[in-house]
Amino acid sequence: AKAAIPATAGGVFYSKPVTATEIKVNVSEPDRAEAAAATQADGVGLLRIEHMILGMGKTPNWYIRSGKTEEYISELISGIKVVADAFYPRPVWVRTLDAPTDEFRAMEGGEGEPHEHNPMLGWRGIRRDMTETDHFRLEVKAFKRLHEMGLTNVGIMLPMVQHVSEFQKAKSIMRDEGLDLDKIDVGVMIETPGAALTIEDFIEDGIDFISFGTNDLTQYTLAVDRNNENVAGLYSELHPAVLKLIEYVVEQCREAGVKTSICGQAGSYPEMAKKLVEMGITSISANIDAVATVRDTVARSEKILILDALRNRD
Ligand code: PEP
Ligand code: MG
Repeated sequence: AKAAIPATAGGVFYSKPVTATEIKVNVSEPDRAEAAAATQADGVGLLRIEHMILGMGKTPNWYIRSGKTEEYISELISGIKVVADAFYPRPVWVRTLDAPTDEFRAMEGGEGEPHEHNPMLGWRGIRRDMTETDHFRLEVKAFKRLHEMGLTNVGIMLPMVQHVSEFQKAKSIMRDEGLDLDKIDVGVMIETPGAALTIEDFIEDGIDFISFGTNDLTQYTLAVDRNNENVAGLYSELHPAVLKLIEYVVEQCREAGVKTSICGQAGSYPEMAKKLVEMGITSISANIDAVATVRDTVARSEKILILDALRNRD
């Protein structure tokens, strides 16, 4: 019998190199799910839901105030489902809502959003979800239903944490909503030096994985606004301080058997990918158009490490 013809991506056949480090992909819009899956990535290391929510045109609070929470949950489920289906059974880590207040203000229902001097340092991510718990509960209900639908590959990733108490509080709400935390992966993004330097506390509290949000980790470590062109020249994920934090977290997690990943832009840079492989990161999540290049870089870096180890054998 003829050998099966391997799948093609975009009509072009290519055989992907095998890597020990998993190569994942970042997805921001459900309609990119097919293109993301065509990269043959090992999973989705970051599924952003902000675009789905901004696309609804109304803030989550509008849905809550209007008594239309079921509508909101259904929209969320249908967006996440497209991606989870495309990757099943490979894991899809869905990040809970992480939009700064200024992005909500322009939407219907956003009139009451507070005016903050520094929205990026303000009420976003886990901070908002842990004070507006009624919204967080809607997200958790969506995750629960996705699991009940058989999409057990959906994991939950919490953004902007800076203290283990935020992780603990989030978990207690998840349990309260009936989520079985033994059956669902829950992890945190490492995007504040506070979280990086206290990683042991998160490990002790049972995180399943971490993912470096280097876009934010870099701006908070170096005190360089990622959106300010006047200081753009100072912004570098390869700054030794950022790399030290990353290496420290990877080491602690590796010893404890906790999965490590990166989903910031830097995961798509070959130079960073090489360093991460040398540190022993578990997976790298890249942009759709960077997956193939990152995979090649990782394969080459792993090969060099193996050859070095063989040459240095006693
Ligand atoms: C990051 O901070 O690296 C990240 C992936 O999150 P975002 O860019 O959405 O803030
Ligand atoms: Mg971030």
